[in-house]
Amino acid sequence: MTSFLGKILCVDLSARSAASVDVPPEVYEAVLAGKGLEAWYLYNHIPAGADPLGPDNILAFAAGALCGTGAFLTGRWTVACKSPLTGGWGDANCGGLFAPAIKQCGYDAIFVSGAAEQPVYLFCDGKTVEIRDASAYWGLDATEAERALHRDLDGVCRKKPCVACIGPSGEKLSLISGICNEGGRIAARSGVGAVMGSKKLKAVVLAGSRPFPCADPEKVKTLSKELGQKLLKMTLPTGLGVFIGAGGAMMGHLPNIPLDGSMTAYMFREWGTQANTSLAITSGDGPIKNWGGTPRDVRLMEAVYNPEHINRIETAKYHCYSCPLGCGGKLNIRGRKYVEFDETHKPEYETIEAFGPLLLNWSLDSIYQLNELLNRAGMDTISAGNTVAWAIECYENGILTKEQTDGLALTWGDTEAILTLVKRMIAREGFGDAIADGVKRASERFGGKQYAMHIGGQEPGMHDARNDPQLGVHFVAEPAPGKHTVGMSIEYGAMSLCDICSWAPPARIHPKSRDLEDTEEMALISKANACYTMLVDGAGGCYYGQMMGVHMWKLVDYLNAAEGWDHDGDWYTQIGERIQTLRQLFNIKQGYDPAAVKLPDRMQGIPPLLSGPLKGVTLKNREQVSAHWRAFGWDGKTGVPLPETVRRLGIDRLTEGET
Ligand code: SF4
Repeated sequence: MTSFLGKILCVDLSARSAASVDVPPEVYEAVLAGKGLEAWYLYNHIPAGADPLGPDNILAFAAGALCGTGAFLTGRWTVACKSPLTGGWGDANCGGLFAPAIKQCGYDAIFVSGAAEQPVYLFCDGKTVEIRDASAYWGLDATEAERALHRDLDGVCRKKPCVACIGPSGEKLSLISGICNEGGRIAARSGVGAVMGSKKLKAVVLAGSRPFPCADPEKVKTLSKELGQKLLKMTLPTGLGVFIGAGGAMMGHLPNIPLDGSMTAYMFREWGTQANTSLAITSGDGPIKNWGGTPRDVRLMEAVYNPEHINRIETAKYHCYSCPLGCGGKLNIRGRKYVEFDETHKPEYETIEAFGPLLLNWSLDSIYQLNELLNRAGMDTISAGNTVAWAIECYENGILTKEQTDGLALTWGDTEAILTLVKRMIAREGFGDAIADGVKRASERFGGKQYAMHIGGQEPGMHDARNDPQLGVHFVAEPAPGKHTVGMSIEYGAMSLCDICSWAPPARIHPKSRDLEDTEEMALISKANACYTMLVDGAGGCYYGQMMGVHMWKLVDYLNAAEGWDHDGDWYTQIGERIQTLRQLFNIKQGYDPAAVKLPDRMQGIPPLLSGPLKGVTLKNREQVSAHWRAFGWDGKTGVPLPETVRRLGIDRLTEGET
């Protein structure tokens, strides 16, 4: 027995049909489940040149291999499709309870093709699969729709169903929309919500209760117990968050030092991802003023966004399935300025940065409101923040006029104007409608391309490549460009990959300048990082588990126990390499040109900044990306995987001869 169910659910909304399809065991051995299974299926079944918003695109929902086995930090689900933002591979992931719900219906993944004529939702309880009328839910925000579905199915299902749905942004085909679950958590990236909207699929509702298979549940339990004991030992006095900003300022001036993974675990348990905000502002990691530089009052800004302010109004922490950390939280925001809601999810670091320092907005209260508005609408906060930043800079430089912005004077830090513009983007009204497809489309229409921060069509996550050039490699080389969750130098230092992968260079203290090099060593570091991330995604693991390092979160041991295998880290790392290469082949098949993707000049340090921790830095990003591709066995100029690489990884056997 393995942890795989061996079946996927294939739904065709045009034909209003659904079929359970067996997956050969060799597919799981090659790519695991989660993103790997999606890469295998989407490569083989989305025709070349498919319209991302047409019926030929396929929207996939997958749980990872370890979901349900008892392994800690493995409750993430991945949604994938051809991205309408980039024209290539698109994916996003999220936590909560939706991943185990997929498996409890008896499937490792659900693939939805075609398009309905009227709004529908997909219902599955492990026995029946139905495509049901969703006209009563169309138009509701994601939180309202989920509540209405729970209300209407109460007493009808044997258990409370799990719901993944779109809000108004996905319905209105905003290319920066995502898919939500559990009251506004969101799989936000790649425009996946627009793809769901184009299929007129309001929600996927899962209410199965089948058991989870696992080869050696006792061994998995022992591994989780060991990890739990390590996590329990990590206690420090409360209130230490006030020192994080000073730590970041120090890091900006020191060589890069490999961190202990337990520090990551402590920070995410104590504050959530918000722990990073102060650190990012002072170290140079967090972009400020549309990626333009560092203001003089950076320490004041750090104090405004210090995570201790957020911890003080936190009413409850919440966890994804099978996670002892619980980096999520609910906040009591009643009575705060700008705020229309009583309660909200704790905003993630990415949201705080995108609507705080990026826009020189000094109101943390407004970010609580923006976070709730955007999560309910199902709009990606990273993309929306970058788009608003572009609009402000265009307005300040006379590229946009008040007539074009429907009377809004867009200036840095104008909280009211930012709120108004975001509401109009969500409603797709006037100028808000014109920019609701993200910064690339907006700049093609209005100009100001020099201020449009996107990579291959997708707005970048809130981390500056001038601070971490390895991140810049992944921003560009990643088949879903602009994602910040594939690799960074600081993460590599914490993960100790050389202890499971024979060819991964050891992490060591090094001057920041080393990360700018296009040497073979740096290319192997970025390759190992990307391969391990893909392995984590195939397992359904959490990025923050990954950052704890291989000695704390023992992914290889977990996988061997869950699958009844006895493979070493090299074998597993090659699974990650295979998944990444399959995703790149997907892009090539779809006509996406990897060589045309580049960092905006500003993000490369052209021209270099004159002050702050990133002063004088200019990247050699193109050279580093080429070296990264060569390390993968892809053509260094074009980014196309070489035939011998495809054969070495056995991908030709997985792709029905299409490569
Ligand atoms: S660390 Fe946070 S995001 Fe990761 S699994 Fe736990 S609760 Fe979810």
